[in-house]
Amino acid sequence: MIEIVSLKKQFGDLVVLKDINLKVTPGSVVALIGPSGSGKSTLLRCMNLLVVPDGGRVRIGSDTFTFDGTSRLPSTRQQARFRSGTGMVFQHFNLFPHMTVLQNVMEGPVSAKNMPAQQAAELARKLLAKVGLSEKVDAFPNRLSGGQKQRVAIARALAMEPAVMLFDEATSALDPELVAEVLSVMRDLAAEGMTMIIVTHEIAFARDVADTVVFMRDGIIVEEGPARDVIDNPKQEATRMFLSHFH
Ligand code: ATP
Ligand code: MG
Repeated sequence: MIEIVSLKKQFGDLVVLKDINLKVTPGSVVALIGPSGSGKSTLLRCMNLLVVPDGGRVRIGSDTFTFDGTSRLPSTRQQARFRSGTGMVFQHFNLFPHMTVLQNVMEGPVSAKNMPAQQAAELARKLLAKVGLSEKVDAFPNRLSGGQKQRVAIARALAMEPAVMLFDEATSALDPELVAEVLSVMRDLAAEGMTMIIVTHEIAFARDVADTVVFMRDGIIVEEGPARDVIDNPKQEATRMFLSHFH
């Protein structure tokens, strides 16, 4: 179970997350939508401690962090454990340029989990096959298309065997013709039962693949419900207004 309780975050005077509550059941897919600046990225970043919340609680599987506003975190070891429960995929792929595709995917398990190199290579090959990149294991990132890079980034996140995959506009930086191959990998993951939170502007994809759609505005969850209900029949005026930009 992934659970966010009373999560709060502000940057200086700017309150970015105001008492966010969200539950994600294992195997379900949540699409997080909302206007620019509504706090979507900050929420994902709070879930893997890239941003330290000011208050509230985050539970990922069996690990729970309670934030008391001191910006103090538990031991680095606990943080690493917590972080490895989440696999984050960003808009920009952040691959290691000096490592091959295979090495990029092996790196996490080897350095954070002390997995023997041979076992990590085996795992990496399996995951790269899953994202359709068996041909590219020995290539360096600068030889890949954006869609291929993003698929490596997904394989790299999966290699840590996270409890939840967090996607922050994973297709927004891609040329239009490369979007489908990445969405298709995400769709396969969802079908396999991976727990996922997806920040996206691909409304049709969210409607199709997500179980739940969450609409955020100004640091608040305005509306939340079954994907088709929220997208086809939003209850809140703010949700309706936001979605009208996509038709
Ligand atoms: P977008 O759709 O544009 O990606 P978002 O919903 O992901 O928007 P966030 O990136 O979470 O929004 O940002 C929410 C607000 O917090 C914005 O006003 C942003 O400028 C501010 N913000 C985010 N990170 C920081 C930071 N590190 N320091 C100060 N302000 C920040
Ligand atoms: Mg964002």
